[in-house]
Amino acid sequence: MPAARVISRAARGWRLATALVLVAVAVAAAQVWRAERQTAALRDEVAWLHTRLGDERELITRQRREMAQVAGAVDRLARTTAALGERGAEARRLAHMAESRVETPALVNVAARLDGGGSVVSEDAGRALEELAWVDGQAAVASDSFAVLTVLLKDRGEDVSRGVPTLWPVRGLVTSPFGVRTSPYGEGREMHPGIDISAHYGMPVRAAGSGEVTFAGRDPGYGGLVVVAHGGKLDTLYAHLSALYVREGQRVHGGQAIGAVGATGRATGAHLHYEVRVAGAPVDPRRYLAK
Ligand SMILES: [Zn+2]
Repeated sequence: MPAARVISRAARGWRLATALVLVAVAVAAAQVWRAERQTAALRDEVAWLHTRLGDERELITRQRREMAQVAGAVDRLARTTAALGERGAEARRLAHMAESRVETPALVNVAARLDGGGSVVSEDAGRALEELAWVDGQAAVASDSFAVLTVLLKDRGEDVSRGVPTLWPVRGLVTSPFGVRTSPYGEGREMHPGIDISAHYGMPVRAAGSGEVTFAGRDPGYGGLVVVAHGGKLDTLYAHLSALYVREGQRVHGGQAIGAVGATGRATGAHLHYEVRVAGAPVDPRRYLAK
């Protein structure tokens, strides 16, 4: 059957052609799919890179902000410290105290270091900010105390400065300084609230500055005692006196004889126990006495 054979051969040819076309389509489809997948992966990678870039930018912005905060805090602290130093100087000037050095270079160094270096990382910046905030608070508190002290001292007024007790009440050796000492009575350590000036019995004791006598009498410990108020909560005490030349309420001027050296009260020998009190608290009289 040649016809049937021809038909059969033709059909086989068609089947083969169809199969070839199908394979070609499949290969093309696979290539297209792979290309698409690669494009998608690339798109994902680009998106991820974009996100990372955003994160990095945010981090840099945050670090810049932190640096600015640190710099601001350092600035504030430097300003507070400067104000503190000025107030301290004013307070000392008003109180007639010796100028003592204010130690600020350390803070200036900190400011310089933070200014110059951009290597402060966020954790350190946070810690630094915390510490600075604390120091800033402390400085502000101290500054307030200085302001109060300055006002108190200003209250003493003009006429008071003439009464500041800078004169030696008697001339002589300081045999016992102000402060904690071993008790001369063998009772351990005690606070000596004044200075003992060695002087002969009966020598005149002079007011260290002008003021008003607020006490002139006897005291079990101090013996013959004169207290002079100089204004501005500043008082001077003259103890162990053998004689009193003034009475309560009397105005005295600096250098005026107010009593005589003695050994009355709790005293081992003739000397003057001299005290300076600020608002009732004993301070070292040597701070006030002229050299
Ligand atoms: Zn004494």
